[in-house]
Amino acid sequence: MTRVRGSPLLSILLVGVTLLIFAVDAFTDLDVAIAVMYVVVVLLSASVWGRRGVILTTVLCLALTLLAYGMIHVSIFSGPASGRLMVSLAAIGITAFLALTGQAATERLLAREQALRRSEAFLAGTQRISRTGSFSFTAPEARLYWSEEAARIYGYPASQPPTVEMLLERTMPDDRPLVRAAVEQVMRCEGELDVRHRLQLPDGSIKYVHVLAHPTYDQDDHCEYLGALMDVTASVLAEQALHESQVQLAHVTRVTMLGELAASIAHEVNQPLAAIATNGEASLRWLNRPQPNLDEACAAIASLLEASRRATEVIQRIRALARRSDPNHLPLDFNAVAEEASALVRRELSSHAVSLRLELAPGLPPVYGDKVQLQQVLINLMMNAMQAMQDCEAGNGSLLLRTAQDADGAVQCHITDSGPGIATEHLPHLFEAFFSTKADGMGMGLPICRSIVETHGGRIWARSTPGQGATLSLSLPSAASVDTEDA
Ligand code: ADP
Repeated sequence: MTRVRGSPLLSILLVGVTLLIFAVDAFTDLDVAIAVMYVVVVLLSASVWGRRGVILTTVLCLALTLLAYGMIHVSIFSGPASGRLMVSLAAIGITAFLALTGQAATERLLAREQALRRSEAFLAGTQRISRTGSFSFTAPEARLYWSEEAARIYGYPASQPPTVEMLLERTMPDDRPLVRAAVEQVMRCEGELDVRHRLQLPDGSIKYVHVLAHPTYDQDDHCEYLGALMDVTASVLAEQALHESQVQLAHVTRVTMLGELAASIAHEVNQPLAAIATNGEASLRWLNRPQPNLDEACAAIASLLEASRRATEVIQRIRALARRSDPNHLPLDFNAVAEEASALVRRELSSHAVSLRLELAPGLPPVYGDKVQLQQVLINLMMNAMQAMQDCEAGNGSLLLRTAQDADGAVQCHITDSGPGIATEHLPHLFEAFFSTKADGMGMGLPICRSIVETHGGRIWARSTPGQGATLSLSLPSAASVDTEDA
């Protein structure tokens, strides 16, 4: 029952009708229950006024009915007239009761409708703010419904009914097979849906969306997917920017680290260069003899080539570390990575009277990673250990690099030094950016090591008993356990 709120015209009309019924009832001599007509007034009053108005109208109608009866039949009792009076009073009462019940039900419905509209508005607002649209998909008819926000994410007007073709049209060509596979999956009603793909909008802009949906079944076993699709462009771009700055930071610290190693690297290259010069001169002497000794000359040239190969190897390793390149993840022999990293620091360590021992476990499974980045981690840990041992008495510093495989098949590497160890209160802050106990320390070495190890799906930790050295350990999943698409 809809109410025509406060309509003055209807109110006047109601008063008029009431008076008219009263006049006919009180001043005419008709043998009919005219007062029954008050039910119209009561019914209409429910459309114009609220509960109190209806009750007042009912009371008024009942009073007018009694008054009219009283005016005509006060002195002469009439059985039929009394019967008509009873019928009229009952009709007015019952109508009032029904009108009030109907009005209450209507009001409840209106309140519910209003609450529904409000929550719809909240939902639309929330979807807009969180850039999350909702949708449903019914197989096998491929009937698709989506919310306004979902339509906005895909760049379609909300009034246009969505179709699978519309989804494919907006999907980046490279990602279409992925979306087609997802559509086939929901057509077969096969488990949870979780897809990330890119959209290419008509203005050329690219969006990243994450679609999640869950199958539901009605009593006839019809399958319907209910889901949400999120515009995750902002977080993907932020992730890419973060990754890019991590790569840049890792590169800068690598170059800084190479600067620290410059003296020993120069020495490392100098040795084969000196050997090249000596062997070159020797071979010239063997050739310049009145009777050239070709065998000796060949042997000297072979040594020269070997020295040149050694020098090239050192330069290649350094160039690889100095180069600014995107990480290239490949299956790697971790022991070989550790050996190469040790070769680069061995001279620096020995110039600081630190002896290095490698204990490499045989038969380690390959790890999936970037060789340069993993070498950076190992060099960083070994340099830190060497710096910590600088105060040790000459010849007392010893460093052990040990590899092993843990029970889960992951490859572990432990670097143990005989330095002063790490103070217990420093341990929880070791991997925090800018934490350093060195006068000229940046405090970025270990945080970068951690970010590199974590992007490789591994973890890094430190253990130390102050006064008895420190062990920095890392563990990396074996290549076989890594989903190469994620890496
Ligand atoms: P930085 O070398 O610039 O100080 P790092 O992040 O590489 O930055 O190291 C942070 C701190 O961790 C160092 O200042 C040092 O106090 C501590 N540390 C790291 N490795 C060792 C170690 N092997 N022994 C003792 N302290 C260590």
